[in-house]
Amino acid sequence: MRRLLLLGLCLLATLAHAAATLPARDAVRYRAVTDPHGLIAELRQQLDQRTGSTTPKQERDLLWQLGVAAVNANDDTALTEAVLRLDSLASVRDYTLAAASAGFLRARQKIARGDGNGVSEALRAAAKVQDESDPEIVAWARYNLCDAYAMSGKAHSAMPLCEQAQAAYRATGDIWGLAQAENDQGVNHAALEQPHKAIEYYQRSRQHFASIGAGQMAVMVGDNLAQMYLKVGRAGEALALSQASLAQEEAAGRVSDALISRANIALEQAALGQSRQALSTIDAALGDARKAGLDGLVPDLLERRSELREKAGQLRLALEDARESIRLLGQRNAAAQSSDEASLEARYAAREKELRIRTLEHQNRLQELALKSARAEAAERGELQRRQTAVGLLVKGAGVAAVLIAGLLYLLLRAQRRHAAELRIQALRDPLTGIDNRRAFMQRAAALLGEAGAATPVHVLLLVDFDHFKQINDSAGHPQGDRVLSMVAEHLGKTVEGVGHVARIGGEEFAVLCPRLGAEAGVRLAETLRAGVAALSLPAAVPQRHVTISIGVAVFDGRHCRDLGGWMRAADAALYSAKSYGRNRVVASSLLPGA
Ligand code: GH3
Ligand code: MG
Ligand code: MG
Repeated sequence: MRRLLLLGLCLLATLAHAAATLPARDAVRYRAVTDPHGLIAELRQQLDQRTGSTTPKQERDLLWQLGVAAVNANDDTALTEAVLRLDSLASVRDYTLAAASAGFLRARQKIARGDGNGVSEALRAAAKVQDESDPEIVAWARYNLCDAYAMSGKAHSAMPLCEQAQAAYRATGDIWGLAQAENDQGVNHAALEQPHKAIEYYQRSRQHFASIGAGQMAVMVGDNLAQMYLKVGRAGEALALSQASLAQEEAAGRVSDALISRANIALEQAALGQSRQALSTIDAALGDARKAGLDGLVPDLLERRSELREKAGQLRLALEDARESIRLLGQRNAAAQSSDEASLEARYAAREKELRIRTLEHQNRLQELALKSARAEAAERGELQRRQTAVGLLVKGAGVAAVLIAGLLYLLLRAQRRHAAELRIQALRDPLTGIDNRRAFMQRAAALLGEAGAATPVHVLLLVDFDHFKQINDSAGHPQGDRVLSMVAEHLGKTVEGVGHVARIGGEEFAVLCPRLGAEAGVRLAETLRAGVAALSLPAAVPQRHVTISIGVAVFDGRHCRDLGGWMRAADAALYSAKSYGRNRVVASSLLPGA
């Protein structure tokens, strides 16, 4: 341990030296990651003291840095402040770069909260600066779009964007930016289960960060790289990286990060066949987590130890850990339930379902472990039986009981699995309208594009967004807004029956997926939907009495767009045009054949 600490101190000394040699822009970027709280305080001071001579560009730069540091520090107040001030800078000085910056920060905030609208927020931000010719702004916008897609887990769509971002940063000679985009590309490949490709990108990213003296960044990318090494059986290299990470985290006093690194080290030791060391590493980490009161980490560490104990053949102990982990998770879920607010109900319902699935999956594991240990016991007893024929009857009775218990556990496990499967189906449904949710839509669309076929038929995608929906909420209240959403969802579902599937993919955004419908019929269908919704009479409690929708149409014929991401972007861009042309209209993507 002392050796590790020393190594950490040496590392920190080298880093301090390296940071001093970074160019000014990169030095701020570095601090936004390594010392975000300090940077926030300093930037606030600079912003408060600024004189009338500050240019909009200078002010925008300071506010962007404030926003990025706030994202890293998880400081919602500072982030909101940066966004509001950028918005006001944009409107007072008519400065689109400030508007785009606010948009990208909002996108990051939404993505961090798991809000599905983060990507469309980033797309809108990028659209604001699409006519910019300054190569630095172009590279910045591309990277932020790539990052939004990558961090939302939309790896397929993110990949070409991250590729473009790398090219743009290469052209401007911005090594920091290049290293960031390479790390994102690694994340994309990792999500697509392509560990060898991911390794290539992470290595490049590390080299680039190291080459400009941003050593701590290289170590952080090393954490991602270690996971991939472990996946492809290079546990020794993974272990070395995790140890470097641990040294850095301990030197910087990042206690929970250090505990996670120790759990990784335990896994890597186990993969290297050092199971005794692995168990003592995880034991020590658990003890320290409990001592430090880091209760949030304890269930995960217990789960890890349970896996390691199972591998080491300590079934009973593995079972104890798994039970304890579930008990703690249950407590945590209950606490989360009581602290959540009613306004988050809809979003929470989905989250709660996820948590329940997770708990059930845990329980499945528990039952499996119990089953295994009961079987092992039955086998042991069977052995005993053969040896001790004198007490044969007694032992046989116990053996039969153990086998019976194993049978019972098996039945329980089967019922549990069925229940988990039901919940999984429910997780694909939108709780408010009862139709498919975003996840179901993505699965259905991906499956459609994955279907084999000699000639690709023309599939149609309609993206639907309510016009001025906020006004309905504002005038009639949120519950009435919900009724309108359900009414319209029902209308859409009935109208497209037999030709398409409707899904609610965001707050007031819907998607209609029409396999093999053909471009012309697709546009006609969109027009029917638009006119039908405009003609619906809303409940009397809604002063507007009518609501309209805008629709973006895009086709997939295997030529115009390459993947689901490209298809959705095309439909989103068409929807965006429908909004800018005045709403209550259908716009077909410029990617339609003949357009
Ligand atoms: P635009 O024509 O530009 O699309 O305007 P808009 O007001 O529809 O768009 P905006 O994105 O500004 O606002 C969307 C609104 O939809 C804001 C949010 O309160 C509301 N909304 C989102 N999800 C729900 C929901 O589940 N229920 C209700 N009642 N409202 C929702
Ligand atoms: Mg809307
Ligand atoms: Mg919307």
